[in-house]
Order: sequence, then C-alpha cells, then structure tokens
Amino acid sequence: MSARFVPIDLTVDTSHLSPNDRAALKKLIEAARIIDRLFYRQLWSGNEALEAQLKQDQSELGQARLDYFHLNKGPWSDLDNHQAFLLNVPERKPEGANFYPEDMTREEFEAADLPESKGFFTVIRRNEDGTLQTVPYSTEYRDYLQPCAQLLNEAAALTDNQTLRHFLETRAAAFLSNDYYESDVAWMDLNAPIDITIGPYETYNDELFGYKAGFEAYVSIRDDEETAKVNFFGDHMQEVEDNLPIDSQYRNPKIGGLSIICVVNQVIAAGDASHGVTAAAYVLPNDERIVQQKGSKRVMLKNIQEAKFNAILTPISRLVLQPEAQNDLSFDAFFTHILAHEMSHGIGPHQITVNGRETSPRQELKELYSAIEEAKADILGIFMLQFFNDRGHRPLDEAKLCTTYLASSFRTLRFGLNEAHGKGMALQFNYLMNAGAFTCENGRWSADPIKMREAVRNLAHDILTIEATGDYHAAKQLLDTLGTMPPNVAETLTQLSDLPVDIRPRFTTATL
Ligand code: ZN
Repeated sequence: MSARFVPIDLTVDTSHLSPNDRAALKKLIEAARIIDRLFYRQLWSGNEALEAQLKQDQSELGQARLDYFHLNKGPWSDLDNHQAFLLNVPERKPEGANFYPEDMTREEFEAADLPESKGFFTVIRRNEDGTLQTVPYSTEYRDYLQPCAQLLNEAAALTDNQTLRHFLETRAAAFLSNDYYESDVAWMDLNAPIDITIGPYETYNDELFGYKAGFEAYVSIRDDEETAKVNFFGDHMQEVEDNLPIDSQYRNPKIGGLSIICVVNQVIAAGDASHGVTAAAYVLPNDERIVQQKGSKRVMLKNIQEAKFNAILTPISRLVLQPEAQNDLSFDAFFTHILAHEMSHGIGPHQITVNGRETSPRQELKELYSAIEEAKADILGIFMLQFFNDRGHRPLDEAKLCTTYLASSFRTLRFGLNEAHGKGMALQFNYLMNAGAFTCENGRWSADPIKMREAVRNLAHDILTIEATGDYHAAKQLLDTLGTMPPNVAETLTQLSDLPVDIRPRFTTATL
C-alpha cells in the first residue's frame, strides 16, 4: 500500500532570507508540527493511544504499520476510500471524525439545535448527563493552540515583513479567541518572502455534515521568478481576451478583477494538509464574507508540482511517448501551462444573456459546466501561450508545450472520466486526435505543434461559443460524442497500472 507513494526529499533554497526571517521560519516550522499533532486528535479519538501502541512493535511489519499510519494520519487508507488497514479499529473512518460523539446520530444533533453547533470552529461533546454541548476549538484544543499562538507571536516579533507580522499576530489571537475573521482578512493581504497558511480550514473530514474545519499548516518560501510570470500574465489578460477565437460580440471589453495567485515552494505541510495524496495547490479562505469582500487566493506549490512531475509524469511519459518526443518533456512548459490554465478561468464569458435573460455559463450548463470549464481553461492556456509567442512575449518552445501537455493528459485520463477534469480532458484528447494533432504509432504517442495551432483555435472557439450562448444541448452533444475514452488510449493506459500514484514528501529543509 505504501509503495504507491514515491518518497521525495523536499528541499527549498532559503539563503536569500534575512537572518530575522530565518529565525522566524524556525518558529513557524515548530508551530506547524504542533498543528500536525492537533490534527491526529481531530481525525479520531483513538489515534493517540493507537500510535503509542504501534510504536511498541519493533518488528518489520510493526514498523510498516506505523509508517502507513503516519502517512494517513490514522488507521484508514486515504487512497482506498478510508477503509481500515489495521485490525481492531472501526472498519471505516467514523463519518463525524472526532468532531462529534461517535454514538451521536444526525437526528439527535438536529433535535438538540444548539447555538454555534453548525460553526466551522466548534466540536460537539456530551455533558455528564448525556446531553450534547458545543465546545469552541479555543477551549477543546487549548493545550495545542496556546503554545502554537506563542510561537506565532515570537515569529511575528522576529520578522522584518509588516504583512507577515500582522497575519501572525491576528492568527495567534484567533487561536485563543476563536474569532478568525480579522486574521483571514490579514491572510489575503499577506505578501512576504515567507508564506504561511495555518489554522482550521477545510471541512472534508466532517463527512457527517461538512461543518467542522480540520487544522492544517503550510509553511513556504515565495518564488519570486514565477510570481513575476504570474504578474506578467495578469498584465496581459485583457489583450488575450480581446483576441479570443470567438465572435467579437462575446468578448469582454473590460475583464473583471482576477483572483490572486501566489507561487511558493513548500518547506513543510502539516495536519490536514499532509496525509494521503499531496496537494499541489489550494484556494482559500472558505469564509464567504471574506470571499465577497476580497476574493480568494490560490497558492501554487511549485516544488510539489516539480516533484510530481519527476516522480509520476516522467515515468508515464517513458511509456506513452514516442522515444524521440521524450526530449521535449519539460517542467517549465508543464508549470507555465498550469499557470496559464488558472489565468484562463478568469477570461472568456462569465456574464451572458440568453433570450434577454442575464445569466451565467454555470447556471445554463448545469452539471456539464465543470467539465466544459476545465477543458476551456486547459485549451485557452495553450492558446494564450501560443498567442504570447506570436507577440514575441516570453517565448516558450511549442514542441515542448504540446508534448508535455500530451503526456500530462495521460496522467489525468488515468484517473477515469467520472470527474470534471477527466471528462474535460477526454473531450480535448479526442478533438486533438481527430484533428491529427495527437497521433499514435505502435502504441506510442506524439504531438504535432503545427497542427495543434489550428486545432486549439477551433476547439477554443467551439467551447467559448457554448459558454457565451449558454447552449446546454451543444455542451451535451460535445461531451456525449467526445467525452469518452478512445480505445487506443485505454490500451496505453493499461501499461501504467504499476506506476506510483503520488509522492510522499520528506521535509528536509524543515529539519535542517
Ligand atoms: Zn481549472
């Protein structure tokens, strides 16, 4: 089970940090380690006792059990739908994790109707008489949050950066007051050589109601070169919009504010951010009040992307690409296309008119929207980079771009067509294959950058027109005919079944 993850050393260059920031970084890594322990307790009430018991077994099998327990942060396997991989534990992760009493039913919770019981930052516990009560995180996890707040304050006193200091001080206060609003706003304004996200955020572990936030921490170093690339894209988005391959009446003469994108290199991830499959990006905050007021921020973890590229995509490419295409596989092309994909979500039709009605592609395309929008972002990402090449901006080798994109599409298709990215990818793959831009010979694939140009333009035109007109039937027809697995792709995919699924980072810079 562990062999599905490739161990990689995650090293980050911190040499450009000021001495004060380097001292602050140490404190923040310590704080992240506390968050890691806190999350074990959130996931299951039995975790701490089980871990102590597993540590006693010095046999090879005992050590392997402990190791996989740490990888999943509990006795249930993330990759296998949270089924138990150890004996004498519940067969599956309890739906309510350790946020609610394990014997509590949905009905009992609803009937109690306690104040704050549906909040992100409270747990539900039983009183002595068996009735339910709401306990704020600041009380429930005080033994972790108090030392964590202290470390954040110490780091705040050390750093030279005003925005980092403000976030750390307000977040430390939030850990003790249980009011996260001000610190979430401060996080949106954070712009510093050290980047940090720390606190209770995602609610996926609460499978009972989806109310309760798991604690996580990401401590990273800002990547200044990629940040400059993102800023460059941002400055040229209107120019791309003005030249989209679509009827000019559908182009937006003044595109709205783009969401903030930060590119960082991860030093350590902890708690909910560090079990099972490793996240390569995250979008926060989840608090709707802040999203309304300030938008949201996407943080992209470049060194995690690079590790996945080396450990997963490169072995895939050796099995799927023609040998002579192998040299065109490029991390720079891969990462630049991911950035272009994210920027592309911000352009194209967003507010549309259908029969005189003001509406949006999401509302009109309903359950098909995600697959169409993801395909749009991919294909417009390529279009945008080709467009920049024509204008002489930031030239990117198109053979590398197309070949890397081809190899990467196998990585997406490998996980099936049930989810929006897979379905959207099948649509693009079939379209590009039918246009002769992707070809297969003796089971090995290659991309033709010249044919890609016209095919990308035509597909971008078709998808953008569907979004601009909110044409549900056209979307359905496109996905029904092209959102399927081509037989020769399915055949290639069977060769990939033994390859690893994901990486397992070792935070080497964090332990230095
Ligand atoms: Zn996307």
